[in-house]
Amino acid sequence: MTAEQAEAREWSGGCQCGAVRFKVEGPLGEPSVCYCRMCQKATGGAFGLYVRVDYAKLKWTRGAPMHFVSSNVARRGFCEKCGTPLTWEFKDWLDVTVASFDEAAKIEPVVQMAMDEQYPWLWRLDAIAVREPASDPEYATYLASVVSYQHPDHDTEVWPPEGRKA
Ligand SMILES: [Zn+2]
Ligand SMILES: [Zn+2]
Repeated sequence: MTAEQAEAREWSGGCQCGAVRFKVEGPLGEPSVCYCRMCQKATGGAFGLYVRVDYAKLKWTRGAPMHFVSSNVARRGFCEKCGTPLTWEFKDWLDVTVASFDEAAKIEPVVQMAMDEQYPWLWRLDAIAVREPASDPEYATYLASVVSYQHPDHDTEVWPPEGRKA
C-alpha cells in the first residue's frame, strides 16, 4: 500500500462520460487485481483492478450506477450512459474500479487473484511491438486530430458540458 492510499483524505472519481461521479473517504482499503473470467467480461479487459471501500465511505455525488447481478454474492455497477464499470458490490463492502478514480495511477494493488484464469500472454507485454507517434507520422497526425469528450479527472459544476447532449 502506498503512503497516499493510507492517507485519511478524500478521493474523487467517476465514469468516462461524467454522468456518474463519486467521492470516497480515505484511507482506502485493499487494492486488488482479479484475472477471473467474470472480471474480464465485466471490464472488457485482461483483469479487474479494484479497491475495497466501505459503503459508508462512498458517496455518489452525481447520478448513480445501474447494476447487473453477476452472481449469488455480488452485483456489478456501471454507468448506464457510457458503460464504464464502476463497482463490484458485496453484502458488507464494495470494490470500486481503480481506473474510475481521478488519481487512478496513485492506487497500487497489493494482492492478485484467479491466477489460473489469467491470459497466457499477459506477462509477455514487454516483448510486444510499441507504436510511438515519434516514429510513425501517420499515427502522430491521427492523434493530433482527436478531440476527447471524456469527463476530466476532476469534479465539474455542470454536466453534460454546455452544447453537448447527455
Ligand atoms: Zn458515464
Ligand atoms: Zn474476478
